[in-house]
Amino acid sequence: MANDAGAVFDVVILGGGSGGYACALRAAELGMRVALIEKGKLGGTCLHQGCIPTKALLHAGEVADQTRESAQFGVKSVFEGIDIAAVHKYKDGVVSRLFKGLTGLIASRGITVVEGDGRLVSPTAVEVGGVRYEGRHVVLATGSVPKSLPGLQIDGNRIISSEHALVLDRVPASAVILGGGVIGVEFASAWKSFGVDVTIVEALPHLVPVEDESSSKLLERAFRKRGIKFELGSRFSGVEYTDAGVRVSLENGKQVEAELLLVAVGRGPVSAGLGYEEAGVAMDRGYVLVDEYCQTNVPTISAVGDLIPTLQLAHVGFGEGILVAERLAGLRVAPIDYAGVPRVTYCDPEVASVGLTQAQAVERYGSDKVALIDYNLGGNGKSQILKTAGSVKVVSVKDGPVVGIHMVGARMGELVAEAQLIYNWEALPSEVAQLIHPHPSQSEAIGEAHLALAGKPLHVHD
Ligand SMILES: Cc1cc2nc3c(=O)[nH]c(=O)nc-3n(C[C@H](O)[C@H](O)[C@H](O)COP(=O)(O)OP(=O)(O)OC[C@H]3O[C@@H](n4cnc5c(N)ncnc54)[C@H](O)[C@@H]3O)c2cc1C
Repeated sequence: MANDAGAVFDVVILGGGSGGYACALRAAELGMRVALIEKGKLGGTCLHQGCIPTKALLHAGEVADQTRESAQFGVKSVFEGIDIAAVHKYKDGVVSRLFKGLTGLIASRGITVVEGDGRLVSPTAVEVGGVRYEGRHVVLATGSVPKSLPGLQIDGNRIISSEHALVLDRVPASAVILGGGVIGVEFASAWKSFGVDVTIVEALPHLVPVEDESSSKLLERAFRKRGIKFELGSRFSGVEYTDAGVRVSLENGKQVEAELLLVAVGRGPVSAGLGYEEAGVAMDRGYVLVDEYCQTNVPTISAVGDLIPTLQLAHVGFGEGILVAERLAGLRVAPIDYAGVPRVTYCDPEVASVGLTQAQAVERYGSDKVALIDYNLGGNGKSQILKTAGSVKVVSVKDGPVVGIHMVGARMGELVAEAQLIYNWEALPSEVAQLIHPHPSQSEAIGEAHLALAGKPLHVHD
């Protein structure tokens, strides 16, 4: 527990996840006196129950698949199975090294870290264990937790959330995953690689339904090939326990039995009982409402991360935290263009995108003003070497800038960094076409797509 209670801080931050700690680091860098209040572990969901541990599981799954499939590359190996305790040891090792680095970084910036459950008690103060921490400004960053459906009780045993799935001490024989969004398909992918018989149930017509429809279809094709089953446009109607696990019923009358049910229907804000409404903060269904500078209707209170109704991504939390710190320090800040934030789903194959989908571009500019190219990875040498399938689809305004890039295939998450620059710098296809990409690399697919869109296709069959 920090000992400088009673001091007035420049900023008191409630919640030490991606949004809160990024704000704390930048504020301290700008010379502000900062208190950071955290009831769990610094790093929050992303480091302990989200981005990092899931990607470690997915990587272990990739190693398993490569071992199973090594003969097609002429490499002899025998896949003997998954040692889940060893997988957890590897995953936990990654998390603990990053956690150590983060706590050291926060300490080195002179930030006062307060351990405990905080509650907003005035527009300028947070109370922790009876001690009041006053700030010129307060930043709310209490994040989110897994949601469920009405009447669906998560028991942590056979009906679990992502938090339980990350520490599961066994590889289940089978699983139903409720929800075909990012978290659902990432677990489906990792578990399939571990040998689990997986069925995804999604109420909307496609997996990863917020992505461009062509990306969803490519992912569905790849998942089908991998033997991952899915029920699309199917609403959950109930679940009952069986001797061996659970029986999940759908509104269309189908039933799926499995050892367990993973509920991945989204995450809701952590705000109940924390004093936000009492302090006069405007809210909507538990989310704190903010303007484009992450300021609430109470001038001394800002909010960032999953607590506000923007994209629930760690790097969005970082960006919002930095924006608030800089605004409080009196720097000129620009609102975030949320369409320009890269989005990656780290399943196999990866789905990555930035900007508008084709449908959104058509809605904004009209179908006669939109041009697009869908470059198949079949023509990309490095993708063939990796034996991955998919495409790079580029959407532009006719005779205008690129407004969306959508990619499916192995390692596409790394390529989205270039796609992000193209979108955010409002590049013309002809300008990107001038850039020479390294050969053989998957980034050539981005180059090829822009060459084609600029009217000078190279490796494209008519
Ligand atoms: C399974 C999974 C996988 C994910 N994968 C990715 C990914 O690959 N990439 C990506 O960008 N995002 C991913 N995310 C999303 C990402 O984790 C979140 O967007 C991000 O963590 C949000 O940051 P935050 O700071 O808003 O909230 P959190 O990280 O949830 O942090 C909030 C913190 O506030 C603390 N807190 C809450 N209430 C109080 C209180 N009263 N007093 C004191 N402390 C309190 C909590 O303990 C917590 O540490 C994933 C999420 C999940 C669940």
